[in-house]
Amino acid sequence: MVIYLIINITSGICFLLIILILLYDFYSKKRLNRLENRYFLFLTYINLFGLILEIILSIVLIYNHNLNGIFSKLIYIYYLIFVANLFLYFYALSNKITLKENKKFKVVRKKISLIFSFLIYILLCFEVSDSNIFSLTDGSYFAYFCSMVTLIIIIFMLRKNVNNISKKNSFIILIILTLGFLSVVVQFYFSNILLIIPVHTIVILLIYFSLENPDLKLIKKLKTAQKKAENASNAKSDFLSNMSHEIRTPLNAIIGLSEAMIENEKIDNNLLEDIENINEASHLLLEIIGNVLDINKIESRKLKINNVNYSIQEELFKIVNINKEKIKNKDIEISVNINKNVPKYLYGDPALVKTIFTNYISNAVKYTKKGKIIISLNSKKVDNEYLIIFMVEDTGMGIKKSNQDKLFKKFSRVNLKENINIEGTGLGLVIVKTISTLLKGEVEFSSLENKGSIFTSYFVQGKSNKKIKEKAKKLNIITKKDILVVDDNLLNIKVLKRMLENVDVNITEANDGYECLEILKNNKFDLVFLDIMMPGINGIETLKKIKKLKLNKIKVIALTADATNNSKGKYLKYGFDDYQAKPYKKEDILKKLSD
Ligand code: ADP
Repeated sequence: MVIYLIINITSGICFLLIILILLYDFYSKKRLNRLENRYFLFLTYINLFGLILEIILSIVLIYNHNLNGIFSKLIYIYYLIFVANLFLYFYALSNKITLKENKKFKVVRKKISLIFSFLIYILLCFEVSDSNIFSLTDGSYFAYFCSMVTLIIIIFMLRKNVNNISKKNSFIILIILTLGFLSVVVQFYFSNILLIIPVHTIVILLIYFSLENPDLKLIKKLKTAQKKAENASNAKSDFLSNMSHEIRTPLNAIIGLSEAMIENEKIDNNLLEDIENINEASHLLLEIIGNVLDINKIESRKLKINNVNYSIQEELFKIVNINKEKIKNKDIEISVNINKNVPKYLYGDPALVKTIFTNYISNAVKYTKKGKIIISLNSKKVDNEYLIIFMVEDTGMGIKKSNQDKLFKKFSRVNLKENINIEGTGLGLVIVKTISTLLKGEVEFSSLENKGSIFTSYFVQGKSNKKIKEKAKKLNIITKKDILVVDDNLLNIKVLKRMLENVDVNITEANDGYECLEILKNNKFDLVFLDIMMPGINGIETLKKIKKLKLNKIKVIALTADATNNSKGKYLKYGFDDYQAKPYKKEDILKKLSD
């Protein structure tokens, strides 16, 4: 008999230590104050109390065997209290009652307290024998029966709420409940060794390391929060790209038609100024959309590098020419210095490089009233790559020293008083910095108030391994062409027709992919301008079907408001011969015709 008591004392002390370590770990970590969490803590304290009871009573029993009966009754009371709390724990877990006890839970808790108080009362009424340490009498059968019934009820409850429990957790709960059943059965046969309380400790350990570990719970909560934030951010970026697409389409009409009107000699001079203003404002809006779209890509980490062989000088001149238009009425002289070192062709991302050029040059134009803008392009060969040094110097308003550390931050606009009439988003410089960094470079600037500024961007581009064919530069040599324009937006077709009014081309129109295919089957064309977003079959599907027609020498150009940085590469991969973003200028279209 004494040997069993010593085993009980030793195991009691071991498990007590384990529970104390667990409690220490539990309290030393930041945890979530959830309901199931609190019931888990109750369970742990009840078990701790049970283990202390086991050790004290076993020591007492060494000296006084007549206390076996009372010992058993106390242990059975512990047992019922533990099972009652286990039920409440699983109830809270499976019903996802997270923070506070709700009404339903309070009712259940009251009922369980009443039922188990009554069961404990009945237990106390049973006679107990003192033959074994853990005596097997009617009282013990009663306690075993009650706990078995409770475990079965728990299983049914979990089954009912199975959707609220993850697969992994269901498996762990199954192990826990199996352990509970087994311990009762084993205890039944080995009534001298106190098994149930240590088994409860193991159950608590299992729960702690699987379901209740504060670390795991926090990680889970963090993951849910991260997922929510990612979803919200994705929704935001999708919304922004859709909006930008939607805005670009009507903007195409505004820019295209106003440009056509500016070219029209019959337009009255007073009206011409207004139309020029409309045109300028629409270009500005386009720039703002471009910036918002770029920053959106940066934030959603969708900004990728799309390398191709390209001419950096050609790209620079495109941007310079656009900006020259803007300063027509200002007393500003723009000069461009391209160092001899700069290779004619590079291997890199022209869209990203163009974004750097655009932002620096358009800032110089915006913030300079008169004087000079000097643009320089230089390069240094580093191993097999080129470090490009792009610098824009202006004699504009400059930036106060106190404001200089605010630059290159999102939405940060400075010199607001002076810039009151100058439109901007405060995104341009951040975009340049991000792109320069992405291209293994950096940015630099210096500025003196009322004297001017110098903005520099360093970035790396690869060596071009392919010789690009020299393209015919003269845009005005356009041989007569038959063109098919496919767009569901009639205004867009009108814009293109108006732009090509004085050009020697025959334009046929189609309003969707099916009509386009029908027309192509029966007629010969040199060029198709194909919109992408169309009802029925979209541009990409239409292109696949056009390819199947095996038409000779026909060029299909994607004409789309999808104007993100890597759009061109994307459409060329789909099999288009070329790509033109909307809104476009007359020169863009003429270039496509002469290419
Ligand atoms: P935005 O021009 O759209 O306001 P940017 O990020 O391009 O946004 O520029 C941020 C701010 O830096 C501008 O609001 C302007 O005050 C200042 N800034 C940028 N470039 C120049 C420049 N060349 N001369 C003077 N101020 C400039």
